[in-house]
Amino acid sequence: MPELPEIHHLARQMHRTLHGRRIAGVDVKQPKCLNMPPQAFADLLVGKTIDRVTSRGKWIFTHLDPGANLLVSLGMGGDLLWHKRGAVPDRYQLRIGFADGSCLTIRFWWFGYAHAVADGDLSAHKMTGTLGLNPLDRREFTLARFHALLEGRRGAIKAFLMDQGNVAGIGNVYIQDILFKARLHPNRPISRIGPREQAALYRAVVGSLTAAARLGGLAFEKDLHGRGGGVRTFLIGYREGKRCPRCGARVRKIRTGATASFICPRCQT
Ligand SMILES: [Zn+2]
Repeated sequence: MPELPEIHHLARQMHRTLHGRRIAGVDVKQPKCLNMPPQAFADLLVGKTIDRVTSRGKWIFTHLDPGANLLVSLGMGGDLLWHKRGAVPDRYQLRIGFADGSCLTIRFWWFGYAHAVADGDLSAHKMTGTLGLNPLDRREFTLARFHALLEGRRGAIKAFLMDQGNVAGIGNVYIQDILFKARLHPNRPISRIGPREQAALYRAVVGSLTAAARLGGLAFEKDLHGRGGGVRTFLIGYREGKRCPRCGARVRKIRTGATASFICPRCQT
């Protein structure tokens, strides 16, 4: 499942590759991933030019000129691929053709969303309007704001970080090493995390996600050109039974609510 580093990387590639291209046609094979009937969807997009492509959390925002947006979430995973003029892709749920003959295809493995939204309706879009802070934006995601976000909160730290309304983009893959670096057990109550531990956690969030985004995300997730990213290993994530790189204890896999967690039982308390 793609998380912030993969989505951030895809959005940057899309910006570089698609900026300035004019949408000539839309082919929808799975109407239920849209937020409106296919014809209305096409009417809103066709004839518009791609301006900026950005991301927040697990959502890609393609800003179109004039005045519209294509918002995409790959959900549990999927391919979002660009094809040169003349290519004939067949496996997709949504195809966006450009005036120069190239196209973009989206294939969700399970289920995802492709929503067309006019500029004036963007702030009212429920699924993206409630997204929390972007940890890759250093002006937005400051240590002071992170402290303020944790202030007075109840519950376990893992569930808090994976709630997209708090910090947007962290899922069950990157959370493992983030908590390990901060030496926090996934079930540690937020009320028992002191300021120094909060600062360590802040550095772990920013450091882990920035490094992964720079590498283009996970090796088994495809980018816009069908290539995998450079993240192949984790410190303790998915390393059950292996040695903790810090203390040598065996990494354990435990259940934490609805998700699995990998922890060093000695380092993370
Ligand atoms: Zn350890």
